[in-house]
Amino acid sequence: MSSHPPTPQLVWLRNDLRLADHRALSVAAHLGPVALLYVFDEETPGAWAMGAAQRWWLHHSLAALAREVAARGGRLLLRRGRAAAMVAEVARELDAGGVHALRHYEPWARVQDAEVALAVDLQLHDGALLTRPEAVTQTSGERYRIFTPWWKRAQAQLPPEPPRAVPELTFADGGSSDDLDSWRLLPRALDWSAGFSVWTPGEAGARERLASFLAVARGYGEARNLPSEDGSSRLSPHLALGEISVASVWHAIADAIPPALAEPYLRELGWRDFAANLLDLFPDSPDAPGRREFRLVHRDAPGDLAAWQRGRTGYPIVDAGMRQLWRIGWMHNRVRMIAASFLVKHLLIDWRQGERWFWDCLVDADLGANAMGWQWVMGSGVDSSPFHRVFAPVTQSEKFRAAAYIRQWVPELARLGDDDIHAPFEASPLALAAAGVRLGQTYPLPIVGHAEGRARALAAYAAMKG
Ligand SMILES: Cc1cc2nc3c(=O)[nH]c(=O)nc-3n(C[C@H](O)[C@H](O)[C@H](O)COP(=O)(O)OP(=O)(O)OC[C@H]3O[C@@H](n4cnc5c(N)ncnc54)[C@H](O)[C@@H]3O)c2cc1C
Repeated sequence: MSSHPPTPQLVWLRNDLRLADHRALSVAAHLGPVALLYVFDEETPGAWAMGAAQRWWLHHSLAALAREVAARGGRLLLRRGRAAAMVAEVARELDAGGVHALRHYEPWARVQDAEVALAVDLQLHDGALLTRPEAVTQTSGERYRIFTPWWKRAQAQLPPEPPRAVPELTFADGGSSDDLDSWRLLPRALDWSAGFSVWTPGEAGARERLASFLAVARGYGEARNLPSEDGSSRLSPHLALGEISVASVWHAIADAIPPALAEPYLRELGWRDFAANLLDLFPDSPDAPGRREFRLVHRDAPGDLAAWQRGRTGYPIVDAGMRQLWRIGWMHNRVRMIAASFLVKHLLIDWRQGERWFWDCLVDADLGANAMGWQWVMGSGVDSSPFHRVFAPVTQSEKFRAAAYIRQWVPELARLGDDDIHAPFEASPLALAAAGVRLGQTYPLPIVGHAEGRARALAAYAAMKG
């Protein structure tokens, strides 16, 4: 009787750049020696290929993962090109017995799955989400479009399985790899990434972030809405590239704090799954309104768009958010809503222009969450805030006590008092002079008045409804 050595197994990584709690890796490691492959595929996602800020993150995440794999005696293989061709080629080079990957729900991931499965024996595993979106259905079998009933139903699949440790790994030899630097993922001519040093991409960085959040997680329900406090987890960029499994985050929180305090956070993790659910149901949601009848006539206003992008609208809370986004590739959730609302309502600019800017600037860019966030603010989504609810930026800024946040990101206003900093255009000449603020010179005047912007938005909405 001859005994055959086990055949090598190829683990194809996508936005799941980790070794712990990775079901595809655990299953593959059980079957034979493994090879790990990441394919940088810009072709399949097309217009929604990874944006510039997330490429920065990807570079550092892959470098960290490569170091981790090397420390265990293996090598992370890197290939650039269409996933189907690259996976098939590497599988051939290794003579792989099987290819294992996690299931993702972006339209491009579905296309990749179908194409790769034509070329190799592809086995997809769950683990990118808490739930299986296709399995959270109403009794009629229909999928949910509204969060609250979806979340109630999703409980049947929760809690997720406890996370798995990194399996014992033996590595397959061979397989050719690109050099990471040759992909040129980092900014070149103009280096805008200095402020990104607040982040530590990679699996170890994700675990550290989670550990420091656990120390304050009890206060999340209160602090999460206050941009001046560091009250949310800031795990989103790590979760977006799958450096930590969402199930590990779930269990860490549920184990650390009492259920009533954990619930608001676990619910936010639920929103991440729900965004994937909506994207799976409406693959065109990054480009088209969920409510098809939503056809607002937008303004074509490149100057206003540029002022918003640069954080020069004259509304401190909006400008602070947009500058935070530019500097560190991340923006506080409450401020994302305020800044997005200002663009689509006060400026009446197409939500897709804002969505695209976020896509390019966010280190946590996630196709489903970004589309859902923009459509929620716009009022065009299947689950969204009504269009006629127009956030007043100054009231929001005061209500969520954003003074310290504004001082951090709009330093030219730092010397204004708490009463004036939310609306410098309403401050007395004396207060402005004392703070060294010259409106129109050191800081812009509002590019549109609140009442005027609101009225214009509501008129456009009324015209759409006919
Ligand atoms: C216009 C707009 C665009 C957005 N674009 C993105 C995006 O591209 N990527 C992204 O991850 N989030 C996006 N969000 C949702 C939210 O702002 C971020 O997930 C959150 O600010 C991340 O910070 P955090 O990790 O500290 O969140 P926490 O409050 O600590 O939440 C924990 C985790 O839950 C998930 N989560 C929380 N809120 C949401 C939500 N509303 N939708 C989906 N998942 C959520 C995230 O994975 C987050 O890391 C967007 C929101 C808006 C209003």
